[in-house]
Amino acid sequence: MTNQFQKMMDEALKATKKVLEQRQKDLSEKGWNADKQNEFFKIFGINGSDVITVDSRKEREKVRKIRKNDKASENLPPMDPYIEVRDDITAYIYMRDGVGRLLDMCTKISVTSPIDSSQRIHGNFVNQTDINDGSANVSGDQTLGLNSDSYKNILKINIQQNFVCKPLMGYDSQASTLCHELSHFFRSQDGKHGGLGTDDMPVSGGFSKNKPYNSNASDLKSSGNQDVFKNSYNIEKYFELIIVE
Ligand SMILES: [Zn+2]
Repeated sequence: MTNQFQKMMDEALKATKKVLEQRQKDLSEKGWNADKQNEFFKIFGINGSDVITVDSRKEREKVRKIRKNDKASENLPPMDPYIEVRDDITAYIYMRDGVGRLLDMCTKISVTSPIDSSQRIHGNFVNQTDINDGSANVSGDQTLGLNSDSYKNILKINIQQNFVCKPLMGYDSQASTLCHELSHFFRSQDGKHGGLGTDDMPVSGGFSKNKPYNSNASDLKSSGNQDVFKNSYNIEKYFELIIVE
């Protein structure tokens, strides 16, 4: 029997795939036209052709140091240790590869019936919709050192009450929220699988629903800060598409 949660997540996962597939097209050699390039800049505040170093050894070490010195460092989520070995990576390639990995994850995870009706776990999704605070969350390190064949059995994405009220696609939607969550996952298997290792910025002090996540995201964008590619609240903006069929 299909329950309400399963039906909702089934539709949300399908919509997320559609949005990611569209972005994969937009970032393909053929699809990457002037319009898509302008849109990319409008969303990130950085041109696709700009070289970014957010995943370079130097930058990651810098972030690691800042985190270590944070007053409340024990409250901080772990950090993706992945270090980009290419130092000439452009924002375009970073997102093209990233979208490819998110889509790959999306095709490996699924929504299934719980074993009995009182169970919360529906495949890769955990029904926490009785919790009013929040819409969804994951711990990003679940993918660390994990073979991507195991995503199906291991990865868990928690879904809370606010998710239910979101539109399927578009601004602050179920699809963009799931892309936000997937982007948190660390890279695995030599960086060829997994997410983007994003954080909910600012990370200082740990997660709090009272932090100004959205205004921080728009500040990063308008100042041309490369952190837009490591901040889940900026990444989700790229997936606020509505696909009409
Ligand atoms: Zn998040």
